[in-house]
Amino acid sequence: MNIDFQKGDGLVPVIIQDFATAKVLMLGYMNEAAFAQTKEEGKVTFFSRSKNRLWTKGEESGNFLMVKDIRLDCDRDTLLIKVDPVGPVCHTGADTCWDEKNDSSLAFIDHLRKTIHDRIAEDDPNSYTNKLVKRGINKVAQKVGEEAVEVVIEAKDDNAELFLNESADLLYHYLVLLEAKGHSLEEVADVLRERHK
Ligand code: AMP
Ligand code: ZN
Ligand code: ZN
Ligand code: ZN
Repeated sequence: MNIDFQKGDGLVPVIIQDFATAKVLMLGYMNEAAFAQTKEEGKVTFFSRSKNRLWTKGEESGNFLMVKDIRLDCDRDTLLIKVDPVGPVCHTGADTCWDEKNDSSLAFIDHLRKTIHDRIAEDDPNSYTNKLVKRGINKVAQKVGEEAVEVVIEAKDDNAELFLNESADLLYHYLVLLEAKGHSLEEVADVLRERHK
């Protein structure tokens, strides 16, 4: 990786992003030695300007940043490192240095999609998902229809818990249908985005 350390007097800024939620967690700096150690150990080591030494994030707190991906920007002077954080990233105890929570319920949908994909591929007889898909596309589609009707019924009342539960059933079965048809929620989102132009 041909990083331009000269522009910043031997230091490059490093944006730390959560690989799963896409939240920006913190920003630090690396010199060549910090970068080499980060690649070597698979956890992020910065050059701390206040400590004036190499600083492995988590060296005291144990909240290391495990490296998932390293990307260099267009003009090679800024790094983006995608990580799996062991714990809260900020020394204040906050999840991010901008006092945000590092979670995304929508990111969980993508996790669920992968689980559905695996359950179908693994051919696990204990898996409801697997059994449902084995009964054929028509059966899966029929379940989507049934759950949609249940959502319609619950929409008439004001029981929020029942409405949300039926909505979850509908979304789960719809994700199974997409997967069984070889499609993804991303493709559906792309169609909506096209229309929006
Ligand atoms: P840690 O690296 O998590 O063991 O924290 C050691 C020390 O580094 C803390 O006491 C802070 O002074 C500093 N520190 C930790 N996390 C951050 C951060 N996200 N941004 C700036 N300084 C930090
Ligand atoms: Zn740049
Ligand atoms: Zn912080
Ligand atoms: Zn239901």
